[in-house]
Amino acid sequence: MKTLLDVKDLSVSFGVYGGEVQAVRGISFAVTEGEAVAIVGESGSGKSVTAQAIMRLLAVPPGKIRGGSITFAGQDLLALPEKEMQKVRGRQIGMIFQDPMTSLNPTMTVGAQIMEGLVRHRRMSRAAAKKRAIELLATVGIPHAESRISQYPHHFSGGMRQRAMIAIALACSPALLIADEPTTALDVTIQAQILRLMKELQRQTRSSIILITHDLGIVADLCDRVIVMYAGQIVETGTKREIFRNPQHPYTKGLLRSLPRLNQAKDEPLVPIYGTPPDLIMPPPGCPFCSRCEEAMQICETDVPAFTRLSETQSVRCWLQHPQARPEECGGKGASA
Ligand code: SF4
Ligand code: MG
Repeated sequence: MKTLLDVKDLSVSFGVYGGEVQAVRGISFAVTEGEAVAIVGESGSGKSVTAQAIMRLLAVPPGKIRGGSITFAGQDLLALPEKEMQKVRGRQIGMIFQDPMTSLNPTMTVGAQIMEGLVRHRRMSRAAAKKRAIELLATVGIPHAESRISQYPHHFSGGMRQRAMIAIALACSPALLIADEPTTALDVTIQAQILRLMKELQRQTRSSIILITHDLGIVADLCDRVIVMYAGQIVETGTKREIFRNPQHPYTKGLLRSLPRLNQAKDEPLVPIYGTPPDLIMPPPGCPFCSRCEEAMQICETDVPAFTRLSETQSVRCWLQHPQARPEECGGKGASA
């Protein structure tokens, strides 16, 4: 499979009063053509910032890319002039945000917003773009698309607005679709519908998807591979099967334990991950999960673990995977309890 997106050693920070938040700290990952990858982690783990860095749309307060490279379809995105980057956005990489109300333009009809990309990027005539916009709205499951396209976003329900966002993102058939918490604002039934729709469209168009979510539960249906982020770093990555069946990082295990399961025994409680992530103005010197980890050892406090490769596809960043790790002798908090 050909690599479509290659992120290498990316670091992003935000200047704030009192210092600099190191939101993304040296992450590397790749997405191949047609692949659906999930980036999972609690809020503040750097998922959205990673997406914004790929789009070169870092939010306020002004974010800075501190290092690393982002290569997309052979282009060095960080070196592209803004004018060229505008052609990449929308045409080659589509983005779906969490809250369509803040990303849809309230002053333009939904149809005009879908047509915009088609006219600008695809050089379609207005008549052809309108026809295509109606088709797209119908594809994403909006009934009476012919009359709906002349309505404004506030005429749409939450679920329909999210569908409209997907139609806009898909308008130019981008090779990569980045969906940042695309269904978080919706109720569970609509969530499932939207995710199914995204999966179906991805299958049809053979595009790649990056799905960003804090909810590992919604990943299961949609994605081939999972990247787990914590405190600005990738702590584990693997195929969906590896992450769900054989998670190795204590944080990944914690995320899974906090999820309701279908075969959950009635009296079996869901276990939240206690504690809070570290301050990223001054990240801890060792493993960032140390203060919340049941299995932390002494070395975890002082040294950042390297990645250990567990298979062709699964890697984890935890001292427990060190070939000589003997947590029971190192005074692991979990072992001594
Ligand atoms: Fe826990 Fe140590 Fe592994 Fe970090 S490196 S997850 S603190 S055991
Ligand atoms: Mg976010």
